[in-house]
Amino acid sequence: MDTFLRQLHDELGQDVVYSAAQDIEPWLSDWRGIYKGQAQAVLRPRNTAQVAQALRLCQAHGMPVVPRGGNTGLCGAATPDGSPRNVVISLDRMNSIRALDTIANTLVADAGCILGDLRRAAAEAGRMLPLSLAAEDSSQIGGNLSTNAGGVNVLRYGMARELVLGIEAVLPSGEVFNGLHTLRKDNTGYDLKQLFIGAEGTLGIITGVALRLQPQMHERAVVLAAVESAQQALEFFRLLFGVCGPRLQAFEFFTDACLDLVLAHAEGVQVPFGQRHPAYVLVELADTADAEGLQALLEKCMEQALEQELCLDAVVSSSLAQLQSLWRLREDISEAQRADGPHLKHDISLPIERIPEFMESAAQRVQQAEPGCRPYIFGHFGDGNLHYNLSRPAGADKSWAAEHEHAVADVVFDEVMAYGGSISAEHGIGQLKRGAFLRCKDPVALELMRGIKQLFDPGNIMNPGKVL
Ligand SMILES: Cc1cc2nc3c(=O)[nH]c(=O)nc-3n(C[C@H](O)[C@H](O)[C@H](O)COP(=O)(O)OP(=O)(O)OC[C@H]3O[C@@H](n4cnc5c(N)ncnc54)[C@H](O)[C@@H]3O)c2cc1C
Repeated sequence: MDTFLRQLHDELGQDVVYSAAQDIEPWLSDWRGIYKGQAQAVLRPRNTAQVAQALRLCQAHGMPVVPRGGNTGLCGAATPDGSPRNVVISLDRMNSIRALDTIANTLVADAGCILGDLRRAAAEAGRMLPLSLAAEDSSQIGGNLSTNAGGVNVLRYGMARELVLGIEAVLPSGEVFNGLHTLRKDNTGYDLKQLFIGAEGTLGIITGVALRLQPQMHERAVVLAAVESAQQALEFFRLLFGVCGPRLQAFEFFTDACLDLVLAHAEGVQVPFGQRHPAYVLVELADTADAEGLQALLEKCMEQALEQELCLDAVVSSSLAQLQSLWRLREDISEAQRADGPHLKHDISLPIERIPEFMESAAQRVQQAEPGCRPYIFGHFGDGNLHYNLSRPAGADKSWAAEHEHAVADVVFDEVMAYGGSISAEHGIGQLKRGAFLRCKDPVALELMRGIKQLFDPGNIMNPGKVL
């Protein structure tokens, strides 16, 4: 055993340090099985002091560190690269709730807590932690903040960043940044906690988080509206936002092609309209109480929308079962596309008012570059977030996606930049989008980011090869 590993064992203990090949194997690949790396050790600390000790040793020996949450990230950011010197630090054993306060409406927890567990703990206390995503029963809150996760409630409550009051993090030097307070108001200089959010583990390791809680929404009402175009969806959104205000919880969009895909691959789904339309919008309103009031508000909105010709047809849910079956038409799209075969995903965001122009222009560019490829466009329209996914042309081999990945991404991302958007709405950069990020990001922003990285991590040990 070399000096570094011996020191790790001596200072952290056998039960924290894993270095046998069979023990570390499960920590070397990503959730989708796209990336695979190497490491000399996996550390599973039990507290912040052990994380600090581990980072101090890694820095002293110049060993690269890969922070690991629930490993549900979609861009290879928690997977070590090919260096056999990597040390993976997993937060999975740091999973205690430190405090939950229903007067201040705050929750303080270890960074390794599973998001779903935190949501359930908040619900048991009669509160809601609004961060919610399909991977919530595997992802950890530290990973959620490190990727600035979005999910289904962004329209009303914002991204993960907007839910955070405080952070405790260990710097590569082993020093602890103690910003774990629950103050609503703290205007004392730079807001350093924000730098760790979305940093994908490149600045330090988040060990504790303080989050804001919200009242629980007991009542929901949903409408599926058919629209002629993205422009009509935009006008409909304007009306809903004005009339429903903060009760507007979701405004999702999908094209008729997506509906075709769901009908072909998902079981037990039905089209609730007598005829098909170019696109659909799924709207959800939610409130703490007053189901009748909520339903009446939605019906009033729909009357106005139909009168002003802001949609073509609409179905308002009248039971929980119907509400769930309407949501399935939107939620089953990703799975249906996976069943359809390999495809290219682009999780992009745009200034919402430019989505219609973008869709028209991008469709032309993509067809010029890849004639016949099939676009499936859906997403959190109200957040300006589209999943601009493309499947192989009819009759093309399944290898099409892998062969055309980079060329197609260049075309899509060039359009995104031309319309003032972002090449990554939610999933981050990691290894997957590093090239596109370095190509598309404003050079001044990149320079500032490099300066911040140098300040926090002068030895460049934190998650090298990711983001920058
Ligand atoms: C089915 C599915 C659905 C998803 N839906 C969404 C969605 O709707 N919205 C969305 O935004 N994302 C979504 N994702 C992506 C993923 O769930 C999120 O990115 C999630 O926030 C990652 O958390 P994690 O704990 O799994 O992090 P990991 O994958 O383990 O790590 C992600 C990054 O964070 C770093 N990291 C992890 N923990 C820490 C820590 N404590 N300190 C410092 N750095 C750390 C890692 O090094 C890595 O860079 C989805 C993923 C799946 C598989």
